[in-house]
Amino acid sequence: MPIDLRSDTVTRPTAAMRAAMLEAEVGDDVYGEDPTVNALQARLAGELGFEDALFVPTGTQSNLLALMSHCARGDEYLVGMDAHAYRYEGGGAAVLGAIQPQPIVQADDGTIPLDVARAMVKPVDPHFARTRLLCLENTWHGRVLPMDYLAEARAFCDAHGLALHLDGARLFNAAVALEVPARAIARHFDSVSVCLSKGLGAPVGSVLLGNRDLIERARRWRKVAGGGWRQAGMLAAAALYALDHHVARLADDHARAARLAALLEDAPAVRVVAQHTNMLFVEVAPERLAAFRAHTEAAGIAMSIGTLPSVRMVVHLDIDDAAIARTAEVLRAFPARAA
Ligand SMILES: *Cc1c(COP(=O)(O)O)cnc(C)c1O
Repeated sequence: MPIDLRSDTVTRPTAAMRAAMLEAEVGDDVYGEDPTVNALQARLAGELGFEDALFVPTGTQSNLLALMSHCARGDEYLVGMDAHAYRYEGGGAAVLGAIQPQPIVQADDGTIPLDVARAMVKPVDPHFARTRLLCLENTWHGRVLPMDYLAEARAFCDAHGLALHLDGARLFNAAVALEVPARAIARHFDSVSVCLSKGLGAPVGSVLLGNRDLIERARRWRKVAGGGWRQAGMLAAAALYALDHHVARLADDHARAARLAALLEDAPAVRVVAQHTNMLFVEVAPERLAAFRAHTEAAGIAMSIGTLPSVRMVVHLDIDDAAIARTAEVLRAFPARAA
């Protein structure tokens, strides 16, 4: 069995999830008539403390719709230099929304320093884009943003008349790690995007949460973006199944990632750089990286190689204790020098 640690997006729906999908009641979601989509949206809105929610195909689209619903043409959002919503979404806000990003280098813990953010808020003057929004990401590279920081970011946004958006692709990983309800994190934000297709194990889908006005605008932009889908209830059924059965178990992924990090502590050629929640970053000497890739591929283990630091591994639903033990064994067997 190959072991795929590239990302938590690679999970496949379990037999029970597929059964739930088969039984889903469906309708046309563009007409607002898919009962399973409506149930998913109502459930997450209630659970996370928002008025409304919108089920969308991807986290990228969810962030885009949030940016386009908060900001107009010529507006600006403050965002981490290494945030997904700046760096990994094809420049969508600028390309499709005419919204200017103002990237800010994040601190090592993933926070955007608020004194830097303050200096980046533009004066009201025709020379400048209008600063409208601060966008945070939690978890970021597996790191959980400190709760105190979220409250400070909220106060900062209130003081400057900015909205606050969370790219919470892995919000539930953060909540499980902190042992708080996800709502305790979400309550600081005007909008939150959550991925069901990462560690929660659904095949497709993200949900954007916000107040009624914001979600109405987002629903319009979703249609414009070609994301108005029809009998999406089968996908919503998978998402509902994931919320029922795959949230608490994220703690198992975190424990397994920590165990893998511990098992690699005295590996000769692999140095653990960071491990947070379900992610593990390790470094291999640059001149050994090609050999490392060949070594792991030959053993049927896939990871993200060539990211910074050199290797990322992500633990998820389809990675069990045996896969962790096997990965540790293969990585520990990789020699520091070519034979
Ligand atoms: C995966 C991810 C997204 C978007 O995911 P899609 O692949 O577009 O569904 C957004 N933000 C973060 C932090 C992510 O990890």
